[in-house]
Amino acid sequence: WNENMEGKVVIVTGASSGIGEQLSYEYAKKGARLVIVARREERLQQVAETARGLGSPDVVPICADVSNVNDCKRFVDETINHFGRLDHLVNNAGIGSICSVEDADDIKKFVPVMDVNFWGCVYPTYYAIPYLKKTRGKIIVNSSVTAILHPPTLAIYSVRIPFSRIYLGLMISNIQASKAALLSFYEALRVELAPAITITIATPGFIETEITQGKHLSKEGVIQVDRQLADEIVKLPLMSSQACAKAVLDAVGRGERNVTEPKWYKAFVLL
Ligand code: NDP
Repeated sequence: WNENMEGKVVIVTGASSGIGEQLSYEYAKKGARLVIVARREERLQQVAETARGLGSPDVVPICADVSNVNDCKRFVDETINHFGRLDHLVNNAGIGSICSVEDADDIKKFVPVMDVNFWGCVYPTYYAIPYLKKTRGKIIVNSSVTAILHPPTLAIYSVRIPFSRIYLGLMISNIQASKAALLSFYEALRVELAPAITITIATPGFIETEITQGKHLSKEGVIQVDRQLADEIVKLPLMSSQACAKAVLDAVGRGERNVTEPKWYKAFVLL
């Protein structure tokens, strides 16, 4: 990863665990100044401490809900008030859901998936654009491989998948739509903002995090979980969140528009 990040300011949403936590550490190792955003304060404080230890000269943890537009305005404003600039906005926060549409006990339970995964990227982006234009900055978006493949049961999360075994078991339709919407939105935004702002869209496969362990799902109580499928997923050879973060930032450093890796499709083939 060859971008010089010293003196630069980065916002990472969903930094309290998983891929966002590891992205924060990769930026910290490069000497970037950080604003890390999520709802769990204690976890954010721990991540901030580790990031400082890894080399970030200044880390500001901010508790915020990315599905709340006022929260998003607040953390962008606080970034500018504190640092006076913004170079990278990493839209990473997201929630999962593993449940087929017809098995949902209440279809309204899918609404937060779109609110967090889609609007939770669009709101901060909107407020960050004027500042990113000034620095000729970058937007990084964490979509999902499910936005390209199309697994049933991930409908709201992203799209549809060609592997028959997945049609049998994978209940992800609700997640798919939110992740596919990100692809459409940011492909179009890239054209609107070029050449001032560069946009990189990552589409990771299954990564070993709290989402794939189903922890968030039960905690949020947003969507019921197909427990049998969730148990299958954790048995897959999942990529580590650190390897995923490195792959994403390698691609960002190369100025790539889309990040995908053959490995990210592997878990789907094995299901
Ligand atoms: P984690 O559950 O470990 O991380 C999700 C992060 O998002 C947490 O820091 C969580 O923090 C934060 N978050 C969730 N909801 C909100 C909210 N409303 N407001 C602010 N922060 C929120 O899972 P991952 O690291 O796997 O997920 C990171 C991203 O990667 C997600 O967008 C996910 O969809 C995507 N992804 C994950 C894949 C995987 O297999 N793991 C595959 C492809 C994409 P807190 O609870 O403290 O708010």
